[in-house]
Amino acid sequence: MTSFNVAIDGPAGAGKSTVAKKVAEKLGFLYIDTGAMYRALTQAALATNVDLHDEKALNNLLMESELELSPSSTGTTVFWNGEDITEEIRSNKVNQNVSLVSSYKQVRLNMMEKQQKLASEKHAVLDGRDIGTHVLPKANVKIFLTASVEERAKRRHTEQVNKGLQSDLEDIKRDIEKRDELDSSRAFAPLKKADDARVLDTTKMDINQVTDAILDFVKEHSV
Ligand code: C5P
Repeated sequence: MTSFNVAIDGPAGAGKSTVAKKVAEKLGFLYIDTGAMYRALTQAALATNVDLHDEKALNNLLMESELELSPSSTGTTVFWNGEDITEEIRSNKVNQNVSLVSSYKQVRLNMMEKQQKLASEKHAVLDGRDIGTHVLPKANVKIFLTASVEERAKRRHTEQVNKGLQSDLEDIKRDIEKRDELDSSRAFAPLKKADDARVLDTTKMDINQVTDAILDFVKEHSV
């Protein structure tokens, strides 16, 4: 079977994961949250005191461990060596360090291999930063999802508040801008729109509108 793959890339907080999950559900495809994979490695390194500046140690940690993404009703459950770390990977500490961990070439190559294997086995929707440019340059559909930084920060803030969590709009905005800057400027596989990706600016769109627009793109590319 040749699998049909939808790549959704874009900056932090553009709503990629919510939308990718919905699109996958509607199509009956697997949803692969590639950000969760980099977050999981970051969390595991923090938990075991691995130096985040030591590329080799990080890569060894990744290669010696078992990382599993399991689809769940709320998105993806993330297991590291069998331990459920779904909550931990969303912490501020992980937010602040994940761009450093994901900047290393060897780490990225190993993650990429895992992502390509998953995407080759099943029809899948993948969200990330480099899916259309590096992981799946031949993806059937490529979307670059974006929105103004103000809108992205506002959405994250509302999400946190709705979860009953402590949240500061300005801190979130700063965090998003910093992560985008680091993700866009790294040497290998930076955050970048693929030349053949469709740009969807979601600043003034709700989740259902974005989902429907992507489903329309998919329809156009199906035979
Ligand atoms: O998508 P999410 O915000 O969860 O991604 C967390 C971080 O993981 C990003 O800021 C980026 O540093 C890294 N990432 C990446 N490549 C991907 C997905 C995520 O470098 N394909």
